[in-house]
Formats: sequence, structure tokens, C-alpha cells
Amino acid sequence: MGFSARYRTAALSTVSGITYDLCIIGGGITGAGIALDAASRGFRVLLLEKRDFASGTSSRSTKLIHGGLRYLKQMEFLLVGQVGRERALLHRLAPHLVVPEKMMLPLIRGGQFGRLTTSIGLRLYDLLAGVPKADRRKMYGRTSALELEPLLDPARVLGCGLYAEYRTDDARLTIEVIKAAHRQGAICLNYCEVESFHYDGSHLNGVIFRDTVSGTRHSVSSRATVNATGPWVDQLRQQDHTLTGKHLFLTKGVHVVVPWKKLPLRQSIYFDVPDGRMIFAIPREQVTYIGTTDTPYEGDLSGIDIDTEDIRYLLQAVSHMFPRTELWESDILSAWAGLRPLIYEPGKSASELSRRDEIFISKNGLISIAGGKLTGYRKMAEKVVNLIIKRLTIPYRPSATSELSLCKGQFTSEHDVSLFRKHIAALLTDKGLPVEKSGYLVHRYGGEAESMINSLSHSAQPIDLLLAELQYALEQEMVLFLPDFFIRRTGMYYFDPVAAGEAIEAVAEKCAGYLNWQEAYRQTAIAEMRHMLENRWRYC
Ligand code: FAD
Repeated sequence: MGFSARYRTAALSTVSGITYDLCIIGGGITGAGIALDAASRGFRVLLLEKRDFASGTSSRSTKLIHGGLRYLKQMEFLLVGQVGRERALLHRLAPHLVVPEKMMLPLIRGGQFGRLTTSIGLRLYDLLAGVPKADRRKMYGRTSALELEPLLDPARVLGCGLYAEYRTDDARLTIEVIKAAHRQGAICLNYCEVESFHYDGSHLNGVIFRDTVSGTRHSVSSRATVNATGPWVDQLRQQDHTLTGKHLFLTKGVHVVVPWKKLPLRQSIYFDVPDGRMIFAIPREQVTYIGTTDTPYEGDLSGIDIDTEDIRYLLQAVSHMFPRTELWESDILSAWAGLRPLIYEPGKSASELSRRDEIFISKNGLISIAGGKLTGYRKMAEKVVNLIIKRLTIPYRPSATSELSLCKGQFTSEHDVSLFRKHIAALLTDKGLPVEKSGYLVHRYGGEAESMINSLSHSAQPIDLLLAELQYALEQEMVLFLPDFFIRRTGMYYFDPVAAGEAIEAVAEKCAGYLNWQEAYRQTAIAEMRHMLENRWRYC
């Protein structure tokens, strides 16, 4: 049976009778990584996610696998080195999904970076991250900078640096890690909310959770329990009655998406904002996205508001750097807001707080992990599992995740990916489908793209291809609701909302058949999805 709703129902029917070595709460990248690490070391693992996998911060990041140039500025050399090397490793494990991307750092008259400091800084960044010689930073003068990026302001640009980063799709990376954990034997369930803990004396030995689809409650026993709930970490610590000492400080980060033709950048760019911060603008398929803000947040964790101040800040930043572009609020296609679960440090502002991860172990035994980055998920997982091995005196087996491919072994390099993309383009042509879809399919589904296309008849329509993606998502990626598919499995909600709107009926019909939806529910699901798409600034 695939990783589907049917598998989920079957797993739920037996989940209570088992004592797990490890119960992980939270199905973002942190929980997913821990599940994969632990299951591949022979642990019996259960992962519970209260909504969809990656529905928290792990689908709302800047979608970069990066060494964190800003951390170099904060003199966090160890962090830069660690995550920098991790980038290349993640690229090796999932070359279709962690893709090299040159990042431009423009040098601007009156900006915070001079040529010499930038040149030295980027060189140090490369050294710490172990970047191969051919890929190291290059510095350019004014003329070349303007050739590389004609949208820069000729009156102020002095030159630029170009350095190596990687881009990804955070929600897809998370689902791939979840699927890899499933292949290693972990039970990973979405829409299962942990409501309380149970204890043997003062020792935490399991959780009670509710399947939010059926409403049924289950009690499970576990030898160790990890709280990997990102922004919700302190809520769970509170439920364990052990929220003392260090605590979270949440900051909100907003991104906006505009049509590429409105901000037709030739490559990704990391640029100065007048208040001394830096933001990214990243072209992706038919759009460019811009972010992020970084402001303290104390509101509702599940419905994060994007206010006009956030939008104004990002649009002003763009017009400051690219004065010849005209971007208006009405150009915004979509937006998302994520919460950074940072560790509070007295006297420090949002932007100054460290992005390091930190582990708290409560007197009852609840292991909470907070902070960190998408990029560092594998090392964080290894650290948590090593700690559990020590506490449970389980025989030590080293982590194997540095060798566990996240694409079922199809690709070993970027070259393989680009050859495969050509092959997919040929298959698309053969079926009468737009060849431009090859990048979309390969970067999302890797080798699975081939069987999706092969399942189609000749002279297929684009909607047939989307339905083939849906079939795969239903059978292999535990899609239960429309937003799971439109937001996190395909990203269409953010990056191609018009096409998403046009496909709702067809997608809902197929979901209804596969998931046994009643007609009344199908209608409600369509109406809710439409409402979300029409208000896609608010539902973030
Ligand atoms: P989450 O993804 O939030 O996962 C926690 C999960 O726990 C949620 O899905 C939630 O539903 C679930 N949960 C909560 N309570 C319960 C419960 N009671 N029962 C069951 N489940 C529960 N990092 C990078 O490396 N590169 C970047 O480009 C980058 N950009 C960023 C930009 C922004 C704006 C932000 C905010 C962060 C960015 N980061 C980036 C950091 C990175 O996104 C986060 O570190 C990472 O996604 C956190 O993942 P997580 O699994 O810890 O938390």
C-alpha cells in the first residue's frame, strides 16, 4: 500500500497497540528529519502532525538551502561552516530538489557593503562552506553588474558579487523526507493532533492524540517523546507543565509573489534595505518572490495576518533597489507569512537573535527542539537521536542519513537531472503537452515525473497532467484535502493561482472519488478552496 489516506486509516487502526521507541510531535522539516534519522537507525517511530505535513513554518520559508551570509555578519562562523557544507550534501541527496543557484549581492553607493569587505566576506563564506574552486564567488565591476542585472540602478550600482547558493521547495523537501522515513518503517500521520501527555509517575511515557479527520482519540506509549512543533514548542512545554527558563521568541517573515514580468530579474539577488536589513528577490518559473520581513509576533499561530505595513516594506525595498520598476499592491499574486521559532535573548532585536537550534529536556523527559533552519535539519536530527540513544541506552548505530537518497536513487548529479529534464521534455512533446512543464515536473517529482506522463494518452490536455500529479499525491503523498495538494504538494496556490482556480472542480472531483467524499462535502471543499484563493493574502 502506498503512503495514502488508505494507508493512514490502516495505520490508525493498529497504532495504539504498539510501544514506540520514539514519538515525534510535529511534521515540519525538524520532525521529518528526526523520523528519518531514527527509523533508519532501527527505532520504532511514530510521527504525529496536527494539520498537513509542512503546513507550519516549513512551507513558508525563503526556500533556500543556504549557508546564511547574514550569520557571517553576526560572526557565527561555526554555523556558517556547518550549514554551508550541509548544502552540498543535501544537493547530493536530492539533486532535483536542492538546485544550485547563483546569488547576486549588488554593491550600491551608500549601501552597507564595500567592494573589499564583500570580496573578503564572500571568500570566507566559500572557505567555511567548502565550496569547490569552480563555484567560488566572483566579483564584478559596474558594467558587468549592469549586464548581469539590467534592472539595477545605473546611477548607484558600483559592482556586484556572485556566489553559490541552492534553492529548494521547502514543503516538497519536507514531504520527501517524510516519505523516506516511511520507507524506513516510521509511521507518519498527518491531521493527528497531540492533545496531552501521559506519565508513569513523573516520567512521560506517551501521548493522547486526536485524529482530526474522524474525531477519534488514541493513546500511544513511547519510550521517548520529541516536541518538534516549531512555533508551538512552548505550548507543548506548557502542556507538560515545564515551561521554565529559556523560551521562544517568534518573529514573522512575510514574502510576496509578483508576476515575473513585473520584476523580470535574471537571477536571484540578495540586497540592502534602507533600514540596514537584507532581503531576497528570487525568480521562480513565471513569478518572482520577494522577502522577508522580520518583526516580533505575538498573535494567533495558526492564522498569521499579513498587514499592509509588511507589504509596503517589501514593495518599498524593491523600488529602492530597482527604481525603474513599478510594483503596486495590485500586482501581488500571493503572499505567505511564516514564524521563526527563535530562542529569546534579553536585549536583542528580532534580526539580531541567533538562528541556532537548541534542545530543552524537561524533568519529565519531554525533549523539545527549537530554532535552527531548514538547511540544518539533518544535523539537528542526528543530534536529537544521538541524545535519545544515550538516554534510553539503546545500542549506538551511527546516523546513516548522509547516504540516504531522497529521490529513490535516480540521480547522482545535476548533470543527471538536466539529462532527465530533456527526456521529460521529449515525452511531453510526444503527448502534445507544453514542453515548459519539464522543469516544473522534474524539480517537484524527480523520477516520478516519467510515470505521470506515461499514464497519459496522446493529445492529453494540461488538466490531465495535473490529474496525474494528483493521482500520485493521493496514492503516495497522503493528500487528504484540497489545500494539501494546491498549497504544499504543487505550490500552485502561491506560484500559479490562476491555474489553481481553473482546476479546482476537476481536482475536487477526483479527490471525491478517491477519498469517498459525500457530495455536500465536495461542494464545501470547492467553496473553501475558492475562498482561500480569492483571499490568498489573508490565508497564510
Ligand atoms: P514547523 O515547520 O513549524 O513544524 C512544526 C509542526 O508542528 C507544524 O506543522 C505544526 O502543525 C505541528 N504541531 C504543532 N502542534 C502540534 C500538536 N499539538 N500535535 C501535532 N503537531 C503539532 N531556513 C532555511 O534553511 N532556508 C531559508 O530560506 C529559510 N527561510 C526562512 C524564512 C522565513 C520567513 C522563516 C519564518 C523561516 C525560514 N527558515 C529558513 C527557517 C526554517 O523555515 C525553519 O527553521 C523550519 O521550517 C522550522 O521547521 P520546524 O519543523 O521546526 O517547524
